[in-house]
Amino acid sequence: MSPERAELIEPGMAGQPIELIGFVLTRTCKGVPGALVDLWQADAKGDYDNKGYRLRGHQFADAEGRYRFRTVVPAEYPGRTPHLHVKVQPKGGRVLTTQLYFPGEPGNRRDGLFRRELLIRTTKNEGWLAGRFDFVLETR
Ligand code: FE
Repeated sequence: MSPERAELIEPGMAGQPIELIGFVLTRTCKGVPGALVDLWQADAKGDYDNKGYRLRGHQFADAEGRYRFRTVVPAEYPGRTPHLHVKVQPKGGRVLTTQLYFPGEPGNRRDGLFRRELLIRTTKNEGWLAGRFDFVLETR
């Protein structure tokens, strides 16, 4: 399991910083407190850390179902447009494994796995990107 942390950016790390926030919600738009959100990604060169936990971390959604990460925008790597890997799991529930994408990336059109519904909404914010994505889970 990855480290429990919201801060994936480390000193000196290259790349466009992004704060990604959002909610884990049920289909009736109720927050899912304590849901696991586990994120892993390539760095600004398109490389994964396969030895350690760089750019990997997990959080548990707060009482309202909110989660938050600070990371960098990953680069594309051969065959893939930039993306974040995410696992979301309500307490004791089924794991949702998915990927999130970035708007305006030319590679989105060429990547067969890309899905428009999985785009992060981003706005520029003084050197940072503010990103928003809400997960909607099928829960009972
Ligand atoms: Fe990947």
